[in-house]
Amino acid sequence: MVKTRIAPSPTGFLHLGTLYQALLDKAFAIRNNGKFIVRIEDTDTNRYVEGAVDALYKGLKWVNISFDETYIQSERLDIYKKHADELIEKGHAYYCFCTEERLTKLREEQSKKKVPPMYDKHCRSINIDEAKKRVDAGEKFVIRMKIPENTKILVHDLIRGDIEFDSSAVDDQVIMKGNGFPTYHLAAMVDDHLMEITHVLRGPEWITSFPKHKLLYDYFDWEMPVFVHTPLITDMSGAKLSKRKGHSSVDWFRRKGYLPEAVLNFISLLGWSHPEGKEIFSFDEFSKVFDFKDLSAVSPKFDLVKMEWMNGQYLQNLSDEEFINRLTSWLKYCISSEYQGATEFETHWTPNDYKLMLNFLNSLNDETKLLFAEINNQRIKKFEDLLPLNNFFVKDTEINQELLTKNKSKEEIKSHMNWFLSELENLGDWNLESLKGLEEKTVKRASELGWKVGEVFHPIRVLLAGSTISPPLFESIFIFGKEKTIKSLNR
Ligand code: GLU
Repeated sequence: MVKTRIAPSPTGFLHLGTLYQALLDKAFAIRNNGKFIVRIEDTDTNRYVEGAVDALYKGLKWVNISFDETYIQSERLDIYKKHADELIEKGHAYYCFCTEERLTKLREEQSKKKVPPMYDKHCRSINIDEAKKRVDAGEKFVIRMKIPENTKILVHDLIRGDIEFDSSAVDDQVIMKGNGFPTYHLAAMVDDHLMEITHVLRGPEWITSFPKHKLLYDYFDWEMPVFVHTPLITDMSGAKLSKRKGHSSVDWFRRKGYLPEAVLNFISLLGWSHPEGKEIFSFDEFSKVFDFKDLSAVSPKFDLVKMEWMNGQYLQNLSDEEFINRLTSWLKYCISSEYQGATEFETHWTPNDYKLMLNFLNSLNDETKLLFAEINNQRIKKFEDLLPLNNFFVKDTEINQELLTKNKSKEEIKSHMNWFLSELENLGDWNLESLKGLEEKTVKRASELGWKVGEVFHPIRVLLAGSTISPPLFESIFIFGKEKTIKSLNR
């Protein structure tokens, strides 16, 4: 049975690269009626971040990627110890007693000689009985694997084919640290084997360690799973995605107001293309057609502009009702402690803005809510774009005098607004239909005045929205309400 896994280290957030792997792993598992599991690789105690595991699960839940089993490596230390001991017994690993001091000196000398830093195998020749005595006596040690000398190590990657390494360039890797924790190399190989992983998909940064992993499988006499190293996802300049710039973190997309299905759709197209050339497709559809072997090894560039475009497409395709539901849950998420507690990213919204917008939405009746969706869903690419556009619904705006009198004199504007206000006062029933009637009248008014159509709307918009951009004017006026509109225009 096919079994795939992600093996994230809890570094504080769900990395986009991890989500990418989870997406491919999960799709491949579904396609093959297999299983997908999550293994938390928390054996690097220096890198441990409080709450990080939670952040991982929340991120996966947001994109609706479920898993069949979970494991936590720090709960499995005795298993790794047993396997490290087995390698010692078989003569494939050895105790190393070198002090940090000696190793630092060694590295310095190597750097002076401009040779790559490598362990000089100093302890490899210590007789095993002697070494055990030193261990029993309480001397500090690590365990290193023995790399065979002067040989070639051949590994196979599903999309890159065979790769050959010269063993002289491979370090006698530490597999067990002094604190009793294994390193990635031992722990991941042992776990992939014991958890019966059939396909190991991982980042391309592991290719250089691949020969060590091949040797470990050989030493244990285990069959190797299929290995696939993903392409390296870069930003548009070709640099690694960085957390500093935000979009390496899945949370960043959530906060900006991207839809999870759009994020999944977009990243599935990194290093892969749909057999029919489609750009927009669901995860369900993806999991019917995706195969690891169709991945490209070439680094794809993460085009945020295109991601925005795609998200905009998804927003447009939501029903008005769904748009409001998704917007509401996004606002709630932004207000929640889940959001507040996380690392801050640059945003135009203050925590209070989210609250104001949510209260405003809640104050609308169902029909008006749908109208609000209708006038916004074609205009925004992500929920975060909603506030600048609809700011005036929730906050007092300032009048920009210069903007107001951009085309016409103050007197002309005043007289036009007086006309418009009296029309509003005498509108009769306050509904969209009567307002649409007023819109037509206002267009006619333009020709009476000899103004351009834009010029009769301009001051209304500037006074109402405090800006030259807003959702469609008369719909906005309707939602804003008679009293508030009159008050705004009277300014
Ligand atoms: N813990 C490793 C990492 O976060 C996992 C690599 C792998 O998938 O094997 O990079």
